[in-house]
Amino acid sequence: MASRPDCLFCKLVAEGDHVHKAEGFVAIEDINPKAPVHLLVLPERHVDTFRDVGQFPAEEAKRMLDFVADAAREAELEDYQVVVNVGPGAGQTVFHLHWHVLGGGRPFE
Ligand code: 5GP
Ligand code: ZN
Repeated sequence: MASRPDCLFCKLVAEGDHVHKAEGFVAIEDINPKAPVHLLVLPERHVDTFRDVGQFPAEEAKRMLDFVADAAREAELEDYQVVVNVGPGAGQTVFHLHWHVLGGGRPFE
């Protein structure tokens, strides 16, 4: 699958420290956690933003959602937030679609 040589998250999918992994997806710990548990779910497929989520085949999009829930479960989170920042105005700083999973007690934000 096309990986962008200049993309930080493509690099971390290939060689990061993965806390959870399945075909096409990995979860890593956020380098600057905003909650006691702060995971990032990264799809292997490079899509710039959630705006382009339609580029995922339907089956892969479903598996991506399952993977987010599995990663949270594996981290022993019952209650948690799932956040996607879409565009710089909403705080997106890395332009490879990713899902924040935040939990483990407040503060979440
Ligand atoms: P965004 O602001 O695009 O929604 O989220 C990007 C996230 O990636 C931020 O929470 C930031 O802390 C995290 N991040 C940036 N660089 C790295 C890195 O090199 N390693 C890891 N694990 N997380 C990173
Ligand atoms: Zn990428």
